[in-house]
Amino acid sequence: MKKLCLLGATGSIGKSCVDIVNRFPEKFSIRYVSAHRNIEDLFALAQQFRPEIAVLSGTTVEAAWQTKFKRIGVKIESGVEALAELAGQSDYDLLVNAVVGAAGLQPTLSAIGQNKNVAIANKETLVTAGDLVTRLSRQKNVQLFPIDSEHSALWQCLVGEDPCSIERLILTASGGPFRELPASEFKNVTVEQALRHPNWAMGQKITIDSATLMNKGLEVIEAFWLFDVDLEDISVLIHPQSIIHSMIEFRDGSIKAQLGLPDMRVPIQYALSYPERIANDLPRMDFMQFSELTFMAPQTDKFKALNLAYHSLREAGTAPAVLNAANEEAVYAFLGKKIRFDQIPAFVEDALEKHSNHRDVTYESVLHADRWARRYVGEKII
Ligand code: NAD
Ligand code: MG
Repeated sequence: MKKLCLLGATGSIGKSCVDIVNRFPEKFSIRYVSAHRNIEDLFALAQQFRPEIAVLSGTTVEAAWQTKFKRIGVKIESGVEALAELAGQSDYDLLVNAVVGAAGLQPTLSAIGQNKNVAIANKETLVTAGDLVTRLSRQKNVQLFPIDSEHSALWQCLVGEDPCSIERLILTASGGPFRELPASEFKNVTVEQALRHPNWAMGQKITIDSATLMNKGLEVIEAFWLFDVDLEDISVLIHPQSIIHSMIEFRDGSIKAQLGLPDMRVPIQYALSYPERIANDLPRMDFMQFSELTFMAPQTDKFKALNLAYHSLREAGTAPAVLNAANEEAVYAFLGKKIRFDQIPAFVEDALEKHSNHRDVTYESVLHADRWARRYVGEKII
């Protein structure tokens, strides 16, 4: 029985993870669990799984709810500190980090500090502090199991291969809902349109990131840290059907791809069960329904976010943390209808230009850069 600490259990990835746990109750259990604000859903999870501790990271827990949790014998705590402490518990097997945003960094570091392997959906952790996280993981002999479908695909393609034989990683991208929309129309894009992703049902932040292609930029950085390849050897390919989840070209010219229906439960299950593959009854792919798989180059002049991500990683130091924090602020401002869709990458670019880079990637320098970027963008938006 693998005992999980599941952070962000009420989100899109969190719910899919719960679905997998429900399918294999003899293999997985939830010992620790968190949500940010949704106390009702957190309580329902607590009733079902009876974890040791449940944490509500984003707000305090009212007395009436505290009584309810007490009645079912589940300790309830609140706040960001409690979230980091939860991940820093010693008696569980695998952290599943399904939190959204840079808030996922501190709990990831706590888990690594306790020598826990981390199944990581929270890509922002690796974007903001990939250097620090991978360094600590090596020191602690901890493994990072990617949940992001592209990175899970790359990880699966690497089974049985010598990582030195990689020539190129090819990250696929659907291109989002505005692949065909002229750039001149971007200023008129509404929140509702941007939230309509063609292939995946996901949380709001990543859905907007997919529409700007920042998501792919974040994933390039994520792949850089997870697979330790040169940035120039990571390429992006638009593949609107989202059937090929990513590919690796090896030095002999052979290419391996991982395919399947777009269903996050597959990579989540793999990260939970690794190195085992467990039989399941999730929907299977019917090739006759996908008689055409198509590919095209990303339109980087239309989707500026992709190059900004490459640029920040070339700058290194705290530049990727600034990219990420500025993007988070701009995305939430767009969702709050305070800025236009086409302004999202513009705010990120501006923040990257203005920030003074710290070469040394420590928790403190990353936190400082993250706060600076949020303040900078926040002040510009008001
Ligand atoms: P979501 O918004 O649906 O869920 C986020 C979860 O984190 C919720 O449980 C929420 O309560 C919690 N949360 C929100 N803000 C928090 C904070 N500041 N501190 C702690 N917890 C907080 O998001 P999602 O779509 O499930 O994405 C989660 C992560 O997984 C993101 O990093 C995303 O990029 C990544 N990811 C998601 C998908 C997908 O299909 N949804 C695919 C690949 C990667
Ligand atoms: Mg992805």
